[in-house]
Amino acid sequence: MVIDCHGHYTSEPSALLEFRKQQIEVLDEPLRMPSSLQLNHEEVQEKLERAQLKFQRDRGTDFTIFSPRASAMGHHIGNAAASLAWTRICNDMIHNVCKLYPNSFIGVCQLPQSPGIRPENCIPELERCIDELGFVGCNLNPDPSGGYWKEPPLTDRWWYPLYEKMVELDVPAMIHVSGSCNPNFHTTGSHYLNADTTAFMQFLTSNLFKDFPTLKFIIPHGGGAVPYHWGRYRGIAQDMRLPLLKDLLLNNVYFDTCVYHQPGIDLLSKVIPANNLLFGSEMVGAVKGIDPETGNYYDDTKRYIDSSTILSAEDKDKIFSKNAIKVFGRLAGQIERQSHNSA
Ligand SMILES: [Zn+2]
Repeated sequence: MVIDCHGHYTSEPSALLEFRKQQIEVLDEPLRMPSSLQLNHEEVQEKLERAQLKFQRDRGTDFTIFSPRASAMGHHIGNAAASLAWTRICNDMIHNVCKLYPNSFIGVCQLPQSPGIRPENCIPELERCIDELGFVGCNLNPDPSGGYWKEPPLTDRWWYPLYEKMVELDVPAMIHVSGSCNPNFHTTGSHYLNADTTAFMQFLTSNLFKDFPTLKFIIPHGGGAVPYHWGRYRGIAQDMRLPLLKDLLLNNVYFDTCVYHQPGIDLLSKVIPANNLLFGSEMVGAVKGIDPETGNYYDDTKRYIDSSTILSAEDKDKIFSKNAIKVFGRLAGQIERQSHNSA
């Protein structure tokens, strides 16, 4: 089985885009906020068929762990109430896709974060998505300010109530920022990768996993700069007299394979143990084009893993499905439930 742990709903129906546009236009007038949207179900299916479903079939992916478009979470836009309304609609859209295609998509939720608002604010929506909608994880934004980094580090007690709930529900979080409104940072080219690297460094210098031994995070985009600079991180840990990184972090921190060329995947798989890698492509999204050097889509990351001479067949099996089943504690049960419901 091949499970892509990182896919976003980037082929949204026009009604969802219109909802957000209207919401942003009337942010200062809560009474005029849109509260629902009229879905054109044919459009929903056509757009998915032309994008995610087509690529799943072409590339041989069985399931995509599917969440709302990350760059559109826009936690910095409006207040907590606006963020909650937008988040609920986005999560409902994912649920709709999982119901339409129960043998192709498993849901992961957006959280209704808002700058300066305590993370326990997200718990009711997390519980709704996990308990009622059958989702298996969440995307956690370490920087709801959109590029200005105003929240405490992910290892601060500020975040602990949310982590307690994640542990209780047995769900991991993918650390995933949203769009950057800081002109210094291009959203997918720098803000995303900066955040991945920053989160790892925060974990390294903390006691977070002593406090939460079963808490699990996925750092996307191949871990940002982390695998490339693994020697630096080992050295910093050594200078700080910390345990080896494998003991300090690798029971809790995992990396996806959203790295868009063979040398990058080769480096990732040489440096990070196969037990800590989850297949991911982030299609359709960050990079849409075809690499003229190979003739293949940059984000067709399955090809790089298939072609790897570093990874054994057993490693590839772990990366393609077994590790996802391990990290997403509810995934196996949810696949079972969804395939039963579709039968
Ligand atoms: Zn993403």
